[in-house]
Amino acid sequence: MNLNSMVDTALTGTPIDRADALAVLAADDAEVMSIVAAAGRVRRHFFGNTVLLNYLVNLKSGMCPEDCSYCSQALGSKAEILKYTWLTPEQVSEAVRAGVERGASTVCLVASGRGPSEREVGKVADYIEGIHAEHPQVTICACLGFVDEQKAARLAEAGAARYNHNLNTSESSYADICSTHTYDDRARTVQASRAGGLSPCSGLIAGMGESDEQLVDVAFGLRELAAESVPVNFLLPFEGTPLATHTELTPQRCLKILAMVRLVNPDAEVRAAAGREYHLRSLQPLVLEICNSIFLGDYLTSEGQAGAADLAMIADAGFEILGKHPDEARAGVGTDTGTDTAEVRIRARGAGTELPANA
Ligand code: SF4
Repeated sequence: MNLNSMVDTALTGTPIDRADALAVLAADDAEVMSIVAAAGRVRRHFFGNTVLLNYLVNLKSGMCPEDCSYCSQALGSKAEILKYTWLTPEQVSEAVRAGVERGASTVCLVASGRGPSEREVGKVADYIEGIHAEHPQVTICACLGFVDEQKAARLAEAGAARYNHNLNTSESSYADICSTHTYDDRARTVQASRAGGLSPCSGLIAGMGESDEQLVDVAFGLRELAAESVPVNFLLPFEGTPLATHTELTPQRCLKILAMVRLVNPDAEVRAAAGREYHLRSLQPLVLEICNSIFLGDYLTSEGQAGAADLAMIADAGFEILGKHPDEARAGVGTDTGTDTAEVRIRARGAGTELPANA
């Protein structure tokens, strides 16, 4: 494995080749720190030492008719999560304010379900216009399931900048995790979001039994779709879902996966997403050396670490929050105790489950 030559390639914005991507995943754990350092050179070349904070607002939770086997909100899932239909505009506004106050520069508006109706797109467009008026500097990302170009264009017109729709896994492993839609269905929505004027955000979930080849396939699939933002999720094996027994990830494996994704998508916003706390454990700060983006606080149906801990981790590791002066970010660390009212709002918003029992 020649990490220097991989870095040289990636620094030009070109993906490393498949053999090198596979070599990163197959590397001995003793090489992990060298791999992190190599990915770090690429990350710093394109993004310096800035960290973009994304904040999730779960507009509608659970009761999804699709059967994605990793998802606590799926048809047939017995996971104990909060289930609710659409938040009110006031609830959305409160949740967004809580994230923005902590330094989030991107707000992700998420709704469970196969995809929004015209009426639901109109409802979300209204939310977006309200957020845009109150926080004009904030980037708004929507994640509502399958959309066509017209629906994406309606969201863009309202002020959304980005659309998230993950490929999740490779084409060859897609049927193993879902029977109600296909890899191609997902890829089409990523393309439609771009055609409608939104920046495509699309990522993956690792730890669902896929092979190294399949992980590399999905990383290149995301590159082919020119995903500008790539969230990398690590499976949270929710009790009550078909993948509850999958516990194959280790902290070293997660770092190798993140580094591989970075080296295949050198200039994309690579984000450490769900499962960061659960799987990386004490190695969490190292994700910042590879990824220029994280979610702040909680995920859709599981709790992340407190927002204060995220901010402290960023400051302690010498990184800066994008769009926030370092002194302001440090001030945020001191004042966010994890028990104030905004924090309560974050947790009331959609974190309906405990982490899996083996957390
Ligand atoms: S479509 Fe989305 S919300 Fe529905 S089961 Fe799949 S991942 Fe979960």
